[in-house]
Amino acid sequence: MKYGTKILHNGNELDPHTGALSIPVYQASTFHQHDIDNLGKYGYSRSGNPTRDALEKTLAALENGTHAFAFSSGMAAVSSALAILEQGDHIVAAEDIYGGSYRILTEFFRKFGISTTFVDMTRLENIERAIGPNTRALFMESPSNPLLKITDIAGAVEVARKHALITMIDNTFMSPYFLQPLDLGVDIVIHSATKFLGGHSDVIAGAVITRDEDLASKIYFVQNGFGAVLGPQDCWLLLRGIKTLRARMVMQQESAIEVALWLKKQSWVTNVYYPGLEDHPGHGIVKSQATGFGAVLSFETDTVQRAKDIMKRVRLWSVAVSLGGVESILSYPVKMSHAAVPQAERERLGITENLIRLSVGLEDAGDLIEDLNVG
Ligand SMILES: *Cc1c(COP(=O)(O)O)cnc(C)c1O
Repeated sequence: MKYGTKILHNGNELDPHTGALSIPVYQASTFHQHDIDNLGKYGYSRSGNPTRDALEKTLAALENGTHAFAFSSGMAAVSSALAILEQGDHIVAAEDIYGGSYRILTEFFRKFGISTTFVDMTRLENIERAIGPNTRALFMESPSNPLLKITDIAGAVEVARKHALITMIDNTFMSPYFLQPLDLGVDIVIHSATKFLGGHSDVIAGAVITRDEDLASKIYFVQNGFGAVLGPQDCWLLLRGIKTLRARMVMQQESAIEVALWLKKQSWVTNVYYPGLEDHPGHGIVKSQATGFGAVLSFETDTVQRAKDIMKRVRLWSVAVSLGGVESILSYPVKMSHAAVPQAERERLGITENLIRLSVGLEDAGDLIEDLNVG
């Protein structure tokens, strides 16, 4: 079965009780037990819920995993995956990860004795160099955020395996449609399902997927124990969004390429960061490890004023945080996704006040380009 078919037919698309083509919203907190000596499949919705079950099995299928866990947000998914680590553990993380992930590592997990070293993961030797005796995990994001840097995932996994590290990747930007990291040897895949998986800017959700039994039981312990589960209504919204994942990813990527090529030709644009461009330093690596480049890109304008003018002028692009929805979004990392990163650190990373990030939606690409044209 081809991937596009699997998105719709993975064994979890029908309600087993009624045959309904849309899994019902099992809006229940608790379940009657007919036989106290033989408890039913569902007991209490924090521990398990039929709508969430269908979603989790679908997510596992899409990532070629065996176990998936749905969380109340992408950050709940990131935090719950990291919470399988122990006090004293050390993490090597990519330096330009999502601002919220940076914040939770530096300001929350640090309190519990889990430390992190951030490195530029475009070079594998940087990973190797940061590994110490207590290092337990490698946390990747590829493409990174917001500069779309690319990590050689299989190469990073090889380094991690030599040191018996657990490998984790935030696969939000690519979505499982373009990249299935478990097939490259990654242990744990994380998503902000708020973005491409949901796709309609109507739900906050997260997911963690693995094919390792031991890691799965640890993650389930956190999901059930910590309790940041996704509610049944939001599970249904995600199931519904996922059905069009392929159509959205293909069309949004097509427009993203058009927008990126147009931006490159503008005299007032000084840099375009999009792995789909042939001169992007990670272009070859993405081609070897993924089936697409995604629909998120960023670019720099010649002046800060120009960046601000664009944000004031646009009518079709929403100026907002988030990405991955059917509607195009323009965001300003310094004030939005990366506001949590200290200014000095941001500047070191190249996240400047001239930088704009775009998430290309389903509108006509020509209209989107016209709307950006401030030249
Ligand atoms: C949005 C995002 C998150 C956080 O997800 P929420 O659903 O907002 O909690 C994590 N990682 C990446 C790459 C994101 O874009």
